[in-house]
Amino acid sequence: MGKIFVSAGHGGLEKGVFDPGIVSGATNEAKEMIQIRDLVIPELRSRGFTTLSVPDDLSADQSIAWINARYSAGDVALEIHASNSLDPVARGATVFYIANNEVRRNQAELLLLALLRRVPQLPSRGAKPDTTSGLGSLAFCRQIVGPSLLMEVAFLSNPSDLGLLQNRRREIALGIADGLAAWSRAVANNAPPRRRDSRLPGSQYQYQRGTIR
Ligand SMILES: [Zn+2]
Repeated sequence: MGKIFVSAGHGGLEKGVFDPGIVSGATNEAKEMIQIRDLVIPELRSRGFTTLSVPDDLSADQSIAWINARYSAGDVALEIHASNSLDPVARGATVFYIANNEVRRNQAELLLLALLRRVPQLPSRGAKPDTTSGLGSLAFCRQIVGPSLLMEVAFLSNPSDLGLLQNRRREIALGIADGLAAWSRAVANNAPPRRRDSRLPGSQYQYQRGTIR
């Protein structure tokens, strides 16, 4: 089984300035995501997964480099964020994937469903290509060597969503852990066989590092 990287969005220095992400009243995105991440990591470790927490003081670019420096075939990486809207009614969870990648879209849906199974009060906004995000493309979905997804758990700007984030932290973390566990298993099961293939006497599948996407 490959490793699982979990990154809580923001919290590092961007061009020398602390980046809290979205700020909402007394809280901010970095603070909320770190608290959820801190529940996800021990849950996955207790289930036997090698899970790496990306250090909080890294910038977005440094977080990607940190993961890539440790990546090996079969690993998966998730970054968690919150959403924000001027429309206080907007709410729900989204998982962004690299556009035009059907495998990754299915994996994004897997993660989203696992979250909503644990937190049915949270509306689904669906799995979405990163080209539909506010930035037009997401570095975390594109610059990680292996499979990577970016989840926006809920809207900090919506009172119901903020209530779920702060009062259903454990259920949210369990949902994220369920999805990551299923995703990691799916990626591991897609790895080419390392053993000799009995249908092809004398031949051997080559297991190539870096080809498992
Ligand atoms: Zn964010």
